[in-house]
Amino acid sequence: EEKEPLNFIEHIIEEDLKGSYSKEDLQFRFPPEPNGYLHIGHASSICLNFGLGLRYKAPVNLRFDDTNPAKEEQEFVDAIKKDVSWLGFEWANECYASDYFQQLYDWAVQMIKDGKAYVDSQASEAIAQQKGTPSEPGVESPYRNRPVSESLELFEQMKNGEAPEGSHVLRAKIDMASSNMLMRDPVMYRILHKSHHRTGTDWKIFPMYDWTHGESDYIEQVSHSFCTLEFLPHRELYDWFLDQVHEKDKLRPKQREFARRNLSHTVVSKRKLAKLVEEGVVNGWDDPRMPTISGLRRRGYTPDSIKNFADSIGVGKRENLIDVSHLEFNVREDLNKKADRVMAVLDPLKVVITNYPEGEEEWLEAENNPGDDTAGSREVPFSREIYIEQNDFKEEANRKFFRLKLGGEVRLKNAYIIKAEKAIKDDAGNIVEVHCSYDTDSKSGSGTEASLRKVKGTLHWVSVNHALPVEVRLYDRLFTDASPDTHKDKDFMEFINPNSLEVITGYAEPSLEKLQPEDTVQFQRLGYFTVDRDSTSAKKVFNRTVALRDSWAK
Ligand code: ATP
Ligand code: MG
Ligand code: MG
Repeated sequence: EEKEPLNFIEHIIEEDLKGSYSKEDLQFRFPPEPNGYLHIGHASSICLNFGLGLRYKAPVNLRFDDTNPAKEEQEFVDAIKKDVSWLGFEWANECYASDYFQQLYDWAVQMIKDGKAYVDSQASEAIAQQKGTPSEPGVESPYRNRPVSESLELFEQMKNGEAPEGSHVLRAKIDMASSNMLMRDPVMYRILHKSHHRTGTDWKIFPMYDWTHGESDYIEQVSHSFCTLEFLPHRELYDWFLDQVHEKDKLRPKQREFARRNLSHTVVSKRKLAKLVEEGVVNGWDDPRMPTISGLRRRGYTPDSIKNFADSIGVGKRENLIDVSHLEFNVREDLNKKADRVMAVLDPLKVVITNYPEGEEEWLEAENNPGDDTAGSREVPFSREIYIEQNDFKEEANRKFFRLKLGGEVRLKNAYIIKAEKAIKDDAGNIVEVHCSYDTDSKSGSGTEASLRKVKGTLHWVSVNHALPVEVRLYDRLFTDASPDTHKDKDFMEFINPNSLEVITGYAEPSLEKLQPEDTVQFQRLGYFTVDRDSTSAKKVFNRTVALRDSWAK
């Protein structure tokens, strides 16, 4: 049994278990609106709710809050299901608020009959104006006391599509003087003559979030309905609506709030992410620069890295900004354990090993993952001409430069020790080639005295003749500002980093030919790279998931 300290949400549940709740009563839900793809903020909510399900062996429903046909689509439902599954969670039931439309309607009719709801025939501007301000009471609608029969008749007309959009709404009759603005006769239904992705044109009226959410929790018998802090003032209304329908023998759901998680250098709001997609700033919802679950997956993030990230920031009562480097740290940690080590050169400089016979080659054994005994090994080809990185060679350098310099030695990973003899330059004085000699007895793993010789630097390399040209996509932060959407006088779109994507050609060892989309490897000394689905049989495309070290840290 693990004994981790309880977070405040678990404390609430433990207290309830000491009170009137039994373990069998516990049930949770994750309730996305299918109006976009899930993002890293949702991952916190998913991990919280499904984590509670695992901890208490309680069912967790995946509930689609699909009450706005103007914004919701089947594509988003499918993407959400895929992402939750991919994270490794199983929902007990797949539920839709739209499946409750009839029940919600019947309850609303009962509320009209009970004098708890009425049809308001004013324009939305008038209704908004009459709400007043928190410091003074609002103005009651002239329709507030219309006869029950009239409201019933109008509500039915609204339902049947006989009333145009905007002509009426159904409002709860609560208290126009309440200090909680949400209690000033909130709208329960509006008319929308739009096709819904599940109910088609069956419904011409759609229930509002506040009316739908608590009742959906009630229908499913969710015990604890966790939502983000901005819903705290909605709790009074959540409870008021439950008061209208609650039966004594049924469990009454409880809404409790936790703080939204924000990530630096990005935006976590489906609406804002949709704008990036619509305006072509990124190439779709799963662009590897997006903070969406699908973007992170395509970038090379693992489910564990995202879950570990969510668990490490935990649940809190106060909103805060998590630096994206913390997310990157988690994926580096996880991939360090899981990813095979391979060699690829991204900025090539040709090295000719002058004492290596022309036309010959040999295949050298290379360990796949020194941290994993089961990872095995592979063979990499070696020959007279190889690529190293441009910045791994300098004609002259001080003692702290442990890479290759004229007259100096380095070990080529899995291969031999080489010594730089001569730099070949073009007319402009740029180094275009380095001539080296190799120590013929120094082959890695051969056990000879020369093979055990200590030289300061080890370089990665790729044989020129065997190199696999690959497209490499290097990503930077999507925004130049840590919280682009918190500026009063500037729109978040003004902070887009114009250099968030750089595409280059790299040269990889031939074993990478067999990799499939979403496979991730470590390009030694460079970082973690994941095969993109844009790869073709002619050319592999790699996304840089994350560099080996945090280049932003000082
Ligand atoms: P968005 O503004 O991105 O659409 P939302 O809260 O409207 O976010 P929903 O689809 O309603 O999105 O969210 C489903 C659940 O995920 C809700 O319980 C919501 O509170 C939670 N959630 C959304 N964003 C975050 C976040 N940044 N941190 C933690 N939980 C979040
Ligand atoms: Mg929402
Ligand atoms: Mg939203």
